[in-house]
Amino acid sequence: MARRDKSDPTLEQIHAYALEVCGDRGLRVAQTVGDGATDEKIEKKTKFKVAEIRAVLNQLHEHGIVEYTREKNLENGWFTYTWRINPDRAMRNFLSAKKQQHQKLMRQMAGEESKLFYSCRRKCMRIAFDDAMESDFRCPECQGKMRFASNDGELKALEQKISALEQILLPTHNGFQSPEA
Ligand SMILES: [Zn+2]
Repeated sequence: MARRDKSDPTLEQIHAYALEVCGDRGLRVAQTVGDGATDEKIEKKTKFKVAEIRAVLNQLHEHGIVEYTREKNLENGWFTYTWRINPDRAMRNFLSAKKQQHQKLMRQMAGEESKLFYSCRRKCMRIAFDDAMESDFRCPECQGKMRFASNDGELKALEQKISALEQILLPTHNGFQSPEA
């Protein structure tokens, strides 16, 4: 087993990305693929069904996490696929996905900061001041009276998510030098 992989920050992030886009199975397959593995080897190691492995590999491939080479068996005409992690492309896609998440959260943050929110006592929903005024400060769900609801909690949660993403997006933390840097 390649122990060195354990402390490779780039690989760790690629695995996290595989988990994010493809769940536990995606992570497991990405870990198994490593520097190169055939479908057969992946099947043996993961004990997943071949069809599942193929579906996961296709998804990982779509996100640029894995690449493959194929070789034709001259006797039976079948192709053998060898899969491997494509670290550069995986990291580029990973970082651009994180950048998009970051932008989305910043927009959410701006929305939270610029609006006053109202909610009923049962917390059916949280609506902005304008909408609350339109419904006469009555909850559209339960008709209960709506009151000002502090969004400190939401703001704090957003701040935490944003700063976690910023940690990842710092080149010193993601261990990845983009070509144009
Ligand atoms: Zn309500």
